[in-house]
Amino acid sequence: MPRFPDSETDARSPERAPRPRRRPGAAEPPVQFLKGVGPARAGLLGKLGVLTPVDLLHYYPRAHEDRSRPTRAADLVEGTPAVARVTVADVELRRIPGRRGRRSLSVVRVEVGDETGSFFLEFWNQPFRAKQFAEGETLVVSGKPTAPKGRGALRMTTPEVEKVDPEEGTDEAHLGWGRIVPVYPLTKGIGQRDLRRAVDEALRSHIEEVVDPLPPALLEGERLLPLRDAVAAIHFPRSMEEVEAARRRLKFDELFCLQAALALRRRSLVREERGFAYDVTAEIDRRIRARFPFPFTAAQDRVVREIAGDLAERHPMNRLLQGDVGSGKTAVALYAMLAVVAHHRQAALLAPTEILAEQHFRGFRRALEGSRVRVEVLAGGMRTKERRDLLTAVRRGFVDLLVATHAVLEGDVEFKDLGIAVVDEQHRFGVHQRRDFRDKGLRPDLLHLTATPIPRTLALTLFGDLDVSILDERPPGRRPVRTVAVGPDGEDAAWALVRREVEAGRQAFTICPLVEESEDLDLRAAEAEAKRLRTAVFPDLRVGLLHGRMGATEKRAAMEEFRAGRTQVLVSTVVVEVGVDIPNASVLAVLHAGRFGLSQLHQLRGRIGRGPHPSTCLLFTGKEGGDAGRRIDAMVETDDGFRIAEMDFAIRGPGEFFGPRQSGLPDLRFPEALLDGPLLQRSREAAFALAARDPELLRPEHRPLRDLLLRRFGDRLDLVRV
Ligand code: ADP
Ligand code: MG
Repeated sequence: MPRFPDSETDARSPERAPRPRRRPGAAEPPVQFLKGVGPARAGLLGKLGVLTPVDLLHYYPRAHEDRSRPTRAADLVEGTPAVARVTVADVELRRIPGRRGRRSLSVVRVEVGDETGSFFLEFWNQPFRAKQFAEGETLVVSGKPTAPKGRGALRMTTPEVEKVDPEEGTDEAHLGWGRIVPVYPLTKGIGQRDLRRAVDEALRSHIEEVVDPLPPALLEGERLLPLRDAVAAIHFPRSMEEVEAARRRLKFDELFCLQAALALRRRSLVREERGFAYDVTAEIDRRIRARFPFPFTAAQDRVVREIAGDLAERHPMNRLLQGDVGSGKTAVALYAMLAVVAHHRQAALLAPTEILAEQHFRGFRRALEGSRVRVEVLAGGMRTKERRDLLTAVRRGFVDLLVATHAVLEGDVEFKDLGIAVVDEQHRFGVHQRRDFRDKGLRPDLLHLTATPIPRTLALTLFGDLDVSILDERPPGRRPVRTVAVGPDGEDAAWALVRREVEAGRQAFTICPLVEESEDLDLRAAEAEAKRLRTAVFPDLRVGLLHGRMGATEKRAAMEEFRAGRTQVLVSTVVVEVGVDIPNASVLAVLHAGRFGLSQLHQLRGRIGRGPHPSTCLLFTGKEGGDAGRRIDAMVETDDGFRIAEMDFAIRGPGEFFGPRQSGLPDLRFPEALLDGPLLQRSREAAFALAARDPELLRPEHRPLRDLLLRRFGDRLDLVRV
């Protein structure tokens, strides 16, 4: 999902750090009183979000390793991963001095074996390992045996090793041996063994405190394990089938609870009253449409009707408009705002960056020339008096349509009567804005615009409390953008293409990537690149520079130069990522394209192909393989935003795709559950059915669920008021 790492910091909302799920003061004892844990380990567990024994029970393993059927030393096969239980016979640290300027090396070789034979463990350049093993110790090792040059003794290089503690019970009862063993995500200072023991202890002494939020009827209907059984099985399963059943139950919980929370929220929104209904009459519709130099596409027509339908209800709109880059979301947004302004209420459009705010403002001004609608922009870099006067005008209701950055909500702006707010390109749909507005005493209709399409079932799941509209058609006359991967050998030809386009009167964007998340380095990279292009590649062309560190005025000036055609090649960091509309730009060159995310690349590509000229997107690459290579391939292969979103999702996985911060989504323990279409569907149906039967969850059998939802989602999903 695109972020705006390089854009004005003022447009960013404070990030919410993941926080422990439990509120302090609750009755559970802290985890430190668990046998064998103590204050030091409790501190470390706290870092993992585990504060109580029950948290620990819900700290699920990231994988399981089958150690029930170990391999004997004699049966190890080269290249086949295996687990073995062995005894240490010998430990040796060898240093290999560096020759001819090379670094010196070290290797720790541990000879291990059982009654059938022996092999080696090898650790390169970790001399401290030598002290970790002692002759006669028993270990469980897990790794892939190799044989150098196909002969000699087998060895495992950097295997996973765990000491077997004879104190820890018989082989049968051993927590790390002779069974399917859980593998936990760790933090420094705490090991698998510590976690297994602590979890085992919690299972003994605290499992009764795990309360099943699902009503029994649902468990039966869905054939799900009771929660306590599932929790026990996810930690110490007796078979891999048991792991599966446990995961299914826990994934279902996760999806179901999210859905139930959304269902509750949706009901509370539906009950929220605007108090009156807008009537978007045929006359209003005609007058608004006359403001555009083009007829709406069929998709725009449909969405505009959906919005008019929302406005005709007595409760506020809460709609997400998805549309690929260039699909014409702005026109729809303006329509919605004018429909409200026609009823003498105010409208606001919130943009992620100042550049975009500025651009929307100009566009609206142009469209509304000669009308009585007063449009203003609240920009950074305004003089104090100018700004004060504007805020006064907004407060008194003289301004009908205000364009600003998202940050304006956190600032001092007051409206006389805000009827509608459009939130452009921000990926924290719904929840936060609504709350921010309410904190200011406002309850506007809300329309969220996004160019990152989300696969349909997912959209339903994640934003189940929003209505979703889709612009699935591009305005006519668009030319598809040709996308080319440019390897090191192709760079000269690529720059030559840029030159030809510029000489034919077109313009070009050159985008430099984020370097290691540091704005300073970024800046230097962009500046160095601008300099190189100016002097070495295009000494005779006009090359401009734009980056996030420039002041608002400078930025505006740089953008203006480009818009007016005076700058021919604009070198930029990702500030231009979203929404910038320069139809004369026909080339986009992305340097180090492999460092960009897929959705981000697609967004960037959306900057071109906006005019009548054929356009080219040049993706400069090294020899990227792996995910970077797949992203480039995907870009070359398709121009369809929905396909791109799906591929992005597939490459990154849901956890990354929807950073919880962006989506307002709580951390999921099983983010991959979002990929399980059928389970998603079932959990959604079950949740909405339940919310329909018992909207406040007041029945006794629904109390545990209600408590859980409030605890887990209350804050994030703003359920507190429900
Ligand atoms: P996005 O959905 O990416 O925000 P914009 O709203 O910026 O897209 O629209 C992209 C371009 O398409 C703009 O130049 C806009 O004027 C133009 N446009 C929008 N709707 C139409 C239409 N129905 N017919 C022709 N051009 C349109
Ligand atoms: Mg846009």
